[in-house]
Amino acid sequence: MANQDCDSLDIFRGETRAWLEANCPAEMRLPVRSEKDACWGGRKFAFQSPAQKQWLGSMAARGWTVPDWPSEYGGGGLSAAETKILKEEMAALGARSPLTSFGISMLGPALLKYGTEAQNKRFLSEIALGQIRWCQGYSEPGAGSDLAGLQTRTEDAGDHYVVNGQKVWTSYADEADWIFCLVRTSSESKHQGISFVLFDMESEGVSTRPILLISGNSPFCETFFDDVKVPKNQLVGEENRGWDVAKYLLGHEREMISGMGLGGEKRALGAVLGGVDDPLLRADVANFDVDALAFAAMSERFIDQLKAGEAHPAFPSMMKYAGTELNKRRHELIVAAGGSDALEWDSDRSKGGKAARDWLRTKGNSIEGGTSEIQLGIVAKHILRLPGA
Ligand SMILES: Cc1cc2nc3c(=O)[nH]c(=O)nc-3n(C[C@H](O)[C@H](O)[C@H](O)COP(=O)(O)OP(=O)(O)OC[C@H]3O[C@@H](n4cnc5c(N)ncnc54)[C@H](O)[C@@H]3O)c2cc1C
Repeated sequence: MANQDCDSLDIFRGETRAWLEANCPAEMRLPVRSEKDACWGGRKFAFQSPAQKQWLGSMAARGWTVPDWPSEYGGGGLSAAETKILKEEMAALGARSPLTSFGISMLGPALLKYGTEAQNKRFLSEIALGQIRWCQGYSEPGAGSDLAGLQTRTEDAGDHYVVNGQKVWTSYADEADWIFCLVRTSSESKHQGISFVLFDMESEGVSTRPILLISGNSPFCETFFDDVKVPKNQLVGEENRGWDVAKYLLGHEREMISGMGLGGEKRALGAVLGGVDDPLLRADVANFDVDALAFAAMSERFIDQLKAGEAHPAFPSMMKYAGTELNKRRHELIVAAGGSDALEWDSDRSKGGKAARDWLRTKGNSIEGGTSEIQLGIVAKHILRLPGA
């Protein structure tokens, strides 16, 4: 990347712009309206339109669903500078991400670091093509913030493990094809007795039960394992060293969640809301927009450092905290500017209560991927080095 000169990057930018212009369907240049409107891929996914399917197919064929992954695993093999240019050109066109996937934002980076060649060839390629949808089996009824207290247990049965236990808050478990899951393979040490395994959600003994949320949606489930057979070649990293893989993945999850601070909207909130009559509210919106710009600049720097392997290990916690607080503020302001109409729940006029439901959804932002209190604890200890933290 360092050797790529400006001329070759300019050529790349021109070619990328022309390709996107020719291949991104008009419908895929409109913002994603809701989680359901995004393309999640996987065996059970029903495309919302031919344009959505075409866009995924065209981007995946170039490896551009995961532009910076190696091409032998279905990626685009682009340098960091080229990846940034691609993202800039997509943003300039308003092009949607062709694929939203826990495989891309969470599991993929962990496999690239800890996976075997055989695992990477199989799973990374399937992720890049959007063939397999993943869910995350970390939290348990007695293990959330204290994740290493997890109790899902395994028995060693030679070439496979037999897994028994329960997970909770498993986002989209009922729609996912496979799960990346933390299990206990030894009770001798809390952290060094955990392993990171992958298995098919259609394996015998796996069942899920949806949990209904305050927003009226039900994006996550309780997940039960009853004598589930997991072949040992689906263990990622070493047995009993899954905590290292889990933490590495959490860093990437927090990076992904921090991105919510940018709200997927290129325009300033003031521009999105249009005229705001109330001068106090107008000042709050202006303050928000200044903070959002600062966050965007900080985010860009953080992602550059992360990709170059130079980010402070506690940075994802800082960014996750800042990004999720910002996203909560954004939706408070949208609801405030919408007045009582924005609290309406069901009508077509309110697009099914979009403002209210989106606002309620943000309440989970400071819990998912580790709560704000936990992130602040990490920042206090590892960045500020506060005594007693
Ligand atoms: C929208 C959403 C999606 C999620 N998706 C998934 C998923 O796909 N897979 C998955 O495995 N999990 C998922 N989770 C679960 C999430 O990771 C946990 O909810 C989170 O880690 C907190 O754990 P807990 O709910 O058990 O709360 P607890 O750990 O019981 O925490 C309760 C309260 O105590 C505070 N607290 C706890 N310990 C400390 C401490 N040491 N210092 C200060 N305060 C503390 C917490 O901040 C919190 O306010 C999701 C959660 C949400 C909200």
